[in-house]
Amino acid sequence: MRPFGYLRPAGVEEAVRAAAEAPGARFLGGGTNLVDLMKLGVETPRTLIDVSRLPLGGIEELPDGGLRIGATVRNSDLAAAAPVRERYPVLSQALLAGASGQLRNTATTGGNLLQRTRCLYFQDPTKPCNKRSPGTGCPARDGVHRDLAVLGHSAHCVATQPSDMAVALAALDAEVHLHGPDGERTVAVTDFHRLPGDRPEQDTVIRPGELLTAVRLPPAAPGARSRYRKVRDRASFAFALVSVAAVLEARDGVVERAALAFGGLAHRPWRARAAEEVLLGAPATEDTFARAADAELAAARCATTPSRSHSPATWPSACSPAWRTRPATADPTTARARRRLRPTVPDPPSPTQGREP
Ligand SMILES: Cc1cc2nc3c(=O)[nH]c(=O)nc-3n(C[C@H](O)[C@H](O)[C@H](O)COP(=O)(O)OP(=O)(O)OC[C@H]3O[C@@H](n4cnc5c(N)ncnc54)[C@H](O)[C@@H]3O)c2cc1C
Ligand code: SF4
Repeated sequence: MRPFGYLRPAGVEEAVRAAAEAPGARFLGGGTNLVDLMKLGVETPRTLIDVSRLPLGGIEELPDGGLRIGATVRNSDLAAAAPVRERYPVLSQALLAGASGQLRNTATTGGNLLQRTRCLYFQDPTKPCNKRSPGTGCPARDGVHRDLAVLGHSAHCVATQPSDMAVALAALDAEVHLHGPDGERTVAVTDFHRLPGDRPEQDTVIRPGELLTAVRLPPAAPGARSRYRKVRDRASFAFALVSVAAVLEARDGVVERAALAFGGLAHRPWRARAAEEVLLGAPATEDTFARAADAELAAARCATTPSRSHSPATWPSACSPAWRTRPATADPTTARARRRLRPTVPDPPSPTQGREP
């Protein structure tokens, strides 16, 4: 047991001040990720600043028709909120596709966005890991990476961002509000999580001591329909192998608006700009959707170290599962890549099932 301090500030300013004055401090939301990582010895904060009871627990209507979601709103409450269910169903569905009812009752909006990767090596302090201990290496590249990144990864890290909620927020063009020692700022959710590059230890663009105070949703596009689909090993209580958040509007059979984001494929929610380009102005047919998926996945690459990778003909046996490892333009792989985007699990439960008794 490592000793650590515990503070419970009454307001945002006090919390930010406390973080600036206590080096090695971490904000504590619901604790469902941070406390687990402390038990594993992955996180070793000297002080916990409990922000879960700050007055940031509201969901407010904004004058422009958008919503402001406080950082301490619990995942269950957000999924069940009427304006979210009615105007942003993709967000409600993404939240309900994550974790379990008990976890969602505790997890906060801020903590969910800032949860750490589930890479097995990151969670095991006996193993090297560039994200946990910079410069020690990335055993996942040639080790277990079945559920790790195929897009945007680097030689230094192939981890994925695990939040389902973040994927829906990326498709909804949401913004994150931050409050730190240098004041307040706003960052688009699509820019909030980083690609690993040569600094995988930094998951997001958040600066030391900055508190996430809220998420802003722009007004929902009238006429657009939205949906979240998630493929995983079990029907519940499992992270995404791949997920997609889609906001789409079609008129007279033609796609007029498309916003897509993938989860489980990259170090950040992957906004699928290439797929969107194919969709816009095209007939809303299965062929168009398949072409859109192929366009986005053309850049997908196996996580295995390039010097150890095999010729394309042997990729399927070298990497598992095969559809994550070959260029999506290769015909058989393309078919598998498409299948990935089809649901293999039942629809998520209705939001009223989100909160456990
Ligand atoms: C068994 C299991 C299964 C799960 N399955 C899924 C799943 O399928 N999909 C999914 O999306 N998630 C899943 N989760 C993860 C779960 O959603 C997260 O643990 C949870 O959302 C984290 O929220 P929290 O409030 O508890 O964060 P905490 O654990 O309190 O904090 C997480 C991180 O955020 C920081 N932080 C917290 N609040 C703030 C703030 N306001 N400002 C700045 N920093 C802050 C903390 O310092 C910490 O680094 C699962 C978790 C478990 C244990
Ligand atoms: S993928 Fe990233 S988190 Fe996983 S072992 Fe490599 S550096 Fe660490």
